[in-house]
Amino acid sequence: MNILVTGGAGYIGSHTCVALIQKGHTVIVADNLCNSKIETIDKIKQITNKEVTFYQIDVTDAVAVDTIFSDNSIDGIIHFAGLKAIGESVQKPLEYYYINLVSTMVLSKACLKYGVKKIVFSSSATVYGNNTVPFVENMKLMPCTNPYGETKAMIERILTDIGKVNSDWSVALLRYFNPVGAHECGLIGEEPNGIPNNLMPYITKVAKGELNKLRIFGKDYPTVDGTGVRDYIHVMDLAEGHVAALNNLTEGVHIYNLGTGQGTSVLQLVNAFEEANDIEVPYEIVERRPGDIAVCYAGTSKAKTELGWTAKRDIVDMCRDAWRFEKGYED
Ligand code: NAD
Ligand code: UDP
Repeated sequence: MNILVTGGAGYIGSHTCVALIQKGHTVIVADNLCNSKIETIDKIKQITNKEVTFYQIDVTDAVAVDTIFSDNSIDGIIHFAGLKAIGESVQKPLEYYYINLVSTMVLSKACLKYGVKKIVFSSSATVYGNNTVPFVENMKLMPCTNPYGETKAMIERILTDIGKVNSDWSVALLRYFNPVGAHECGLIGEEPNGIPNNLMPYITKVAKGELNKLRIFGKDYPTVDGTGVRDYIHVMDLAEGHVAALNNLTEGVHIYNLGTGQGTSVLQLVNAFEEANDIEVPYEIVERRPGDIAVCYAGTSKAKTELGWTAKRDIVDMCRDAWRFEKGYED
């Protein structure tokens, strides 16, 4: 299939392009590079030895998006492009609502106009809020504590409503848990701008000596060791989950969790990283981070049954691959 990947130069998008190409699909990337680099497109080509058509456009620009659809015979789209920093979304709500929602509506209109019926969207486990674990797809969603999360819940609603009246559409709303790690070859990985907000990129920067020590946010949660528990998933497993969704989607709107079903605490992840890479990660315990929940992990049986997909890589793989990428990466 010819797949349009919006945000394909970004962290999850680039790994998904590799997984798609390796399964025989052709990839067309649309990205404005606001949070990624053009070099990543070359690295995708280098890893796969295949061409990638690249458009540097803003996906809220309906005219530019129309050009891509008229130039290419597109069979399906995966929509990663958007803004994703939770803290920033509180400071810049209009930008988050505008870019995340308008991009989805522009793409949906183009899909209707050009008869593209397969749509895969990057949602997030954040839509579950503080539900009881494991989070399963048919749970009632809780209001999010930030505009970023709200955009994910709203886009799920928008695509669900469009899917209802276009019964030949196949829509996958993929709720990611905590993507970490990098492609095994070390060429592509996560490259956050400035000081990372997320745990794994923070750990790798501390290990590299670029940051002094990790601050662990809270040790008084009702968890195995008092630190927050998350469902970390290797980014290549996540990428392969998108290919499985595209290949196995049936008509209708379907929601799938992409997680491992395993919870890992902050301290467990730090210890695993130290052991896997034989390197020390100094840390201190500080106050809880506002808005954090204690525990989050996925129920995974729906993706397994309906898409035939489960995560294969473990925490050691995630720590090893994240570090391999960081070691080879120059800012
Ligand atoms: P990323 O920032 O690395 O990738 C997003 C890409 O979209 C970037 O290359 C950026 O340049 C591009 N982009 C942003 N706005 C654009 C626009 N208006 N037009 C064209 N391109 C634009 O982020 P990521 O971690 O790869 O996340 C991809 C998607 O997955 C996002 O929708 C994000 O919300 C979602 N998601 C990410 C996580 C995570 O922890 N990384 C978790 C759940 C969901
Ligand atoms: N965390 C931490 N120190 C950091 C970053 C994160 O202790 O510098 C914790 C955070 O409190 C949470 C877990 O690590 O329990 C995962 O946080 P992250 O921001 O990576 O993902 P989230 O689940 O919040 O989206």
